[in-house]
Amino acid sequence: MNDTIAARIRRIRKDMADAAAKSGRPPSAVRLMAVTKTVDEARIREALAAGVDVLGENYVQEARRKIERLGTDVPWHGIGHLQTNKAKQAVKLFTLIHSVDRIGLAEEIDRRAAAAGRVTHILIEVNVTSEASKSGVPLSQALPLVHAVSALKNVSVRGLMTLPPWSDDPEASRPCFAALRRLRDQIRAECLECCVMEELSMGMSQDYRVAIEEGATIVRIGRLIFGERPARG
Ligand SMILES: *Cc1c(COP(=O)(O)O)cnc(C)c1O
Repeated sequence: MNDTIAARIRRIRKDMADAAAKSGRPPSAVRLMAVTKTVDEARIREALAAGVDVLGENYVQEARRKIERLGTDVPWHGIGHLQTNKAKQAVKLFTLIHSVDRIGLAEEIDRRAAAAGRVTHILIEVNVTSEASKSGVPLSQALPLVHAVSALKNVSVRGLMTLPPWSDDPEASRPCFAALRRLRDQIRAECLECCVMEELSMGMSQDYRVAIEEGATIVRIGRLIFGERPARG
């Protein structure tokens, strides 16, 4: 890919708008997150200049370094598997944590948020297909987890996130996205306190159009904006 980051973002925005229309929603209903893991500062600045809605980082250390340099005019979200001992930093760095998948982590975020005098917004990460290698709460245990988390006063559940099994066929992800939307609607119908079920974080480079057709409100895109990542050693 030797086209510019700005040109890629323009194409993605156009596809996002088409997919949103297919689900009966305006383009503004879906936010574009640029996933910046392993991406250098200069290229992130290009993406910011072209206009993305959110920046997403997997690693707390990397996020801290980048946030110091790039600022927070565009909000930073945490999307990677989070160890409980990183909760304190994650609360400081991220306006939304997408990857809460167990009560112990939610409780630690709650404690750290209370100490910082704030309410931290989170998503519950759901492992819809119960893939053994993945983080995320199994679909069957998602509802009990949401109930437990919604009792915490300094954590606010804003919605759900998922990462389907990798496939080069975007249609393979559709049932997984549809299942997450149904779960969101089911939780929404319960009107829990501290629980605003507005966000569905789903869809990446290869399947974001399908995710939007199924109701995504945030798509998390790395490679399609920045190019292939180097393998992590
Ligand atoms: C890396 C990553 C993405 C972006 O994936 P691409 O295939 O580069 O678009 C999205 N979500 C999560 C949780 C990731 O770790």
